[in-house]
Amino acid sequence: MQAAEIDIVSVTKKYGSATAVDGISLKIPAGAYCCLLGPSGCGKSSTLRMIAGHETISDGDIRLGGKVVTDFPPARRSTAMMFQSYALFPHMDLIDNVAFSLKMKGVEKGERRARALEMLKLMQMEAYATRRPAQLSGGQQQRVALARALITDPEALLLDEPLSALDPFLKIRMRAELKRLQKSLGITFVHVTHSQDEAMALADLIVVMNDGRIEQAAAPREVFERPATAFVARFMGDHNVVSGRVTGHGDGLVTFEVPGGQTLVASGRAMEAGRAVDVGIRTDRVRIGAAESQGFGFTAIVSNIEYQGASVKLSVTGAGIEDFTVITDDAAFFASPVIVGEAIPLSWAAGDASILGALDS
Ligand code: ADP
Ligand code: MG
Repeated sequence: MQAAEIDIVSVTKKYGSATAVDGISLKIPAGAYCCLLGPSGCGKSSTLRMIAGHETISDGDIRLGGKVVTDFPPARRSTAMMFQSYALFPHMDLIDNVAFSLKMKGVEKGERRARALEMLKLMQMEAYATRRPAQLSGGQQQRVALARALITDPEALLLDEPLSALDPFLKIRMRAELKRLQKSLGITFVHVTHSQDEAMALADLIVVMNDGRIEQAAAPREVFERPATAFVARFMGDHNVVSGRVTGHGDGLVTFEVPGGQTLVASGRAMEAGRAVDVGIRTDRVRIGAAESQGFGFTAIVSNIEYQGASVKLSVTGAGIEDFTVITDDAAFFASPVIVGEAIPLSWAAGDASILGALDS
């Protein structure tokens, strides 16, 4: 199969006067596994439906494989869409379900049934070919929906929350199958999800969306290790976000004051004093113990302790810091345990606190 590059150029989607997608631009390389990630209502499905042609574009253009398809109907776009509900026809057997789009195109019966069976084989569902959808488990229905989407030989497959109907165990298994399928077909996948775990596990390219805009588009590791904005850091989890105002800078370090008193240090480029900043500090990089130099830690009061097996999660507060999390490994914690209500020193290394996006001051 051939893969298409998807180029979204300043695309806006309005429903009446409400803006659902706000002038986004994004290039998805041919053959990439791209996840659109963000909270409910941020514009993921609208974006996907505009790529598919199931939704009109209010402004901007979409190019598939270099061709502007903005005004093309879905059938002329060489994309296929798999819906959250699978939308299988209950009264048809699996072969007829999978062959449906070929029937619409006027492909002759013998050929379309042969191709449908081939697709069911690819999804390891040929043994169920004459069953109806109601006689299948959720995971099996999903494979049939995939077979039905792939039978048109699309250059890009668009999936809207494809795993959301599955139980947690099956979700993880089907996620591995999706990844394997994408690699073997080599076509572009665009997969909408609100789950960070899912996006991290699957994507070559994660696009974090918020309120109709793109906050960051990068490889999973980059999004996790260098979140571009406070929103991304919070949404991906595993980061504390501390807000304050810049008081000075030098040597690649910015000092900032947290409202409530303390002065901390983060790595970041020179910034004018007084500017509002958000600083990200990885929860697993904070240790219990005094900082070696001023500004790389604070005194915290433990408010909650959760044992999580291989690690222990401490929720703490500090002067001007409401909500701060420390993930410490179980051995280190139990070697010198702390208790709720105790005051403890926390610290981190110079590179572990970094300026996220600068807010307007
Ligand atoms: P997501 O998939 O990220 O949850 P959507 O793209 O479905 O987000 O929705 C983005 C925004 O657009 C939401 O505020 C939603 O209520 C609104 N919206 C989505 N579809 C329609 C529609 N057909 N008519 C009016 N508003 C819509
Ligand atoms: Mg949606």
